[in-house]
Amino acid sequence: MKPKILLLHVPHRTRKIYLHDYYTSYSSKAYYYWSPADLILISGLVRDFEVKVIDAIAERLSFAECEARILSFSPDVIIFTTGTATWDNDLLFLQRIKAKLNCLLLGSSAIFIFEPVYFLENFPFLDGLILDITSPEIIDFITGSRDDNRAIAFRRQDGSLRLPRREEKEKVFTLPVPLHDLFPYHLNRSPLARRKPFALVVTSVGCPYSCRFCVVGSLKYRYRPVENIIEELQYLQKLGVKEIMFNDPTFTASRKRIIALCQAMKAKGLNFTWVANAHVATLNEKMLKYMKASGGHTLMIGVESANQTILDRYAKGISVEKTKQVFRLCQKYGFRTLAYFIIGLPGETRETILETIRLSLELDCDFASFAIATPDIGSAMREEAIKQGLLSPETRIFDSTAFPVFAGGNLSKEEIWRLRQQAIRKFYLRPSYIFKRLTRMRSWQELKVHLEQAQAMFFP
Ligand code: SF4
Repeated sequence: MKPKILLLHVPHRTRKIYLHDYYTSYSSKAYYYWSPADLILISGLVRDFEVKVIDAIAERLSFAECEARILSFSPDVIIFTTGTATWDNDLLFLQRIKAKLNCLLLGSSAIFIFEPVYFLENFPFLDGLILDITSPEIIDFITGSRDDNRAIAFRRQDGSLRLPRREEKEKVFTLPVPLHDLFPYHLNRSPLARRKPFALVVTSVGCPYSCRFCVVGSLKYRYRPVENIIEELQYLQKLGVKEIMFNDPTFTASRKRIIALCQAMKAKGLNFTWVANAHVATLNEKMLKYMKASGGHTLMIGVESANQTILDRYAKGISVEKTKQVFRLCQKYGFRTLAYFIIGLPGETRETILETIRLSLELDCDFASFAIATPDIGSAMREEAIKQGLLSPETRIFDSTAFPVFAGGNLSKEEIWRLRQQAIRKFYLRPSYIFKRLTRMRSWQELKVHLEQAQAMFFP
């Protein structure tokens, strides 16, 4: 008999909405939600087994409700996702499940790549940690081929740990089409989505850039061939999905590849609208034209800071001037833009943060995200902060939308938090901004999502 596999997004004891995208996790402050990217990718790999998905966050299940569903399915294997915002909650729940169910428990998260020993030694009910979410060796592990497995760190029967070496992997990888129909994609919500339902598609992992505050740059950039992505998009079109969120950390990393993908989408008659993450250094007129013609309408772009010294210190690889040009170019081609900013990087002052707030207004972007700087496990910034005594190596729980866990320079955590709240108010409560948003609504559905978002942001 085929093993029964459960892909689990663990409930939170507070029933708050948390997002997990494998690299990071954070609470949703603006009522947005989408299923975890790593579980979607893994669903394709395990598609030949009997697979069930429980997304307890999307369905707002309590611990007890989720437990009842798990016990009723009685899986042989549970694959769960977690991250720095929730792993304490998630492991508490899973320990309880493991005490009631004899199953193989496998975790997926970038934190496991960098701290496998900590998690395997301190949480003996974990059977394995997935270190490569694109690897078919996950299946080998489930079916019993373990000793030379390169995708999973685990505890051997004698108690010793088997930690695969981080090897060079092929730059191009293909994936079986993920089992999107098992995920509650009709519950996905985003103010950026133009149409519903929308689904997540991941076309690459890692990132070719090496920003020092970010864990993704520590992982090799690898991507799927265009034909492999088209196969997944064709299946999503058949399911009735209207909108795609390309959830790659840096979707636009290769112009050639993205232009080829846009051309193939047009040629195959794929009529999606879509949103993606983009890097300032990669965007040019030619690529924007192709992206627009294939349904692209919104780009999420990492700006991070308005201060060039801060950008250079963290190896962002962009200039403030270039950022301004690129935002103008996106607007010229009719793209809406979301600018990501980070507030409270070590070395920041009150003045650099105020500069960043001013830039957020000057860019005339449609959305802005002001994340609190977090010491992501695996990032160069974390190592520096630990060396400088700004952070304890034991600090493993944090959330970029919550109160800071560390501060550097001459700012306190309280000041960083106050400035972040000020940034949100300054950006979103401008009458001119509210007017612009209202006049650009295309449907009642879009208006409803925006009102829900505003309510969640300002009256949680
Ligand atoms: S470009 Fe984005 S994803 Fe890549 S390392 Fe920098 S912040 Fe991370």
